[in-house]
Amino acid sequence: MNELGNFDIAIIGGGMVGASLALLLAQQKPDWKIVLLEAQNFSDSDQSQFENSFDARSTAIAQGSVEILQDLGVWEKLSQEATAISQVHVSDAGHFMGGLIDASAYQLDAVGYVIPNAWIGRVLLDQLRTQKNIQFIAPIRVEKLKPQQQGALLQVQAQGESFELNCKLAVVADGGDSPLRKSLGIDSHIKDYNQTALIANVAYSEPHKGVAYERFTAQGPLALLPLGNKLTAKESALVLTLPRDQANDIARLNDEDFLQHLQTRFGNRLGKFLRVGKRHKYELKLVTASEQIRSHIVLVGNAAHFLHPVAGQGFNLSLRDCVCLVDALVNGDATDKHLGELGTLQDYLHRQELDQTLTIEFSDKLVRLFSSSSLPLIALRHLGFVGLDLMPAAKIRFANQTMGIAGEKYLSRIK
Ligand SMILES: Cc1cc2nc3c(=O)[nH]c(=O)nc-3n(C[C@H](O)[C@H](O)[C@H](O)COP(=O)(O)OP(=O)(O)OC[C@H]3O[C@@H](n4cnc5c(N)ncnc54)[C@H](O)[C@@H]3O)c2cc1C
Repeated sequence: MNELGNFDIAIIGGGMVGASLALLLAQQKPDWKIVLLEAQNFSDSDQSQFENSFDARSTAIAQGSVEILQDLGVWEKLSQEATAISQVHVSDAGHFMGGLIDASAYQLDAVGYVIPNAWIGRVLLDQLRTQKNIQFIAPIRVEKLKPQQQGALLQVQAQGESFELNCKLAVVADGGDSPLRKSLGIDSHIKDYNQTALIANVAYSEPHKGVAYERFTAQGPLALLPLGNKLTAKESALVLTLPRDQANDIARLNDEDFLQHLQTRFGNRLGKFLRVGKRHKYELKLVTASEQIRSHIVLVGNAAHFLHPVAGQGFNLSLRDCVCLVDALVNGDATDKHLGELGTLQDYLHRQELDQTLTIEFSDKLVRLFSSSSLPLIALRHLGFVGLDLMPAAKIRFANQTMGIAGEKYLSRIK
């Protein structure tokens, strides 16, 4: 078997989370030798064909995450394609009640920003290539991860050849299905929402003015995130949640009928829907790994927790996880702990557990409450909407979560 060498940290999966973590680590510890292993050929110039993170979606980046990306030195470039969200409008189909989160009420320029994933990919990958202590290898597939006494052994395949590499800490960032999580015998708790998210870019007749919409309908939630980099733009990224048994039929509608379906579900706040781009589908589940850490192994990103996308929390939470993980590793190093030893990883998880629990509960409750047609839940959500405007504490909780400032470290910076 060929040898790829010894590394301090091996990150498996170069999606949004694996790539961000590699950059955070490289920035904090220039003397650590990091390898990032990605199964897809990210050097291909046509990024629209990438699967997972860097596909045709757009991501709502919360205000808290902007600070992390600024610290990483990638925000200036990311912001070239970012559309500021000045307000989030939350509403319930068939009722006039709604709630509004307004950035100006929190003395912020924006609640968050919407950025096409393909652009996030390009900026992160460009930055990776400038880091001397990151070796980014793609395409290469990690076939096996074997725990060792003080690290891990990785068996990988590239261009039909097998290689081995050793590392002190293996970070599993291989996505929601996470074959490596399964091969390690780590169970996951799966709550199937029985829903499919259909995503597409849409254009309409009125300017969005920087407003993001979250609308809850009997068929499931719907989000429209402003695109186009200016308030007068008339396009948004649509995340349309559908009961799974209806998704194929609606995905196959011709453009005219699809736009009519959307108009009926969303209403006329953005005028008339005029055009829809290519549609893509994602099956929606809440998947949480039953273990996120073992000695010299840690799971991050979708491999650790895969959330319903409507509240736009998955990547934002993972970024906060990554910041906290890097902090714990750096602290461990300063006190002469062996890189990746269980105590250091426990310290990380202990500090991030509350943020993870609150964020996962927030997304899950929002989906269940607002996808339900049961009468008590309908009553509860009406109270919720009234509450959102009348009860400052509820609104602040919703706004904080939406802006991604629940994380321990970033909470103190934003206050
Ligand atoms: C429709 C939708 C909309 C969303 N919108 C938002 C939003 O607005 N805001 C937000 O915060 N979050 C959002 N999310 C969540 C966000 O997309 C995820 O949190 C994020 O993509 C997770 O990235 P990841 O790197 O963990 O996993 P992935 O994107 O799945 O990346 C995993 C990578 O690992 C690679 N890989 C897999 N196996 C191997 C192997 N054996 N060897 C080497 N490489 C391997 C894959 O090729 C892939 O590149 C949304 C999700 C969906 C589905």
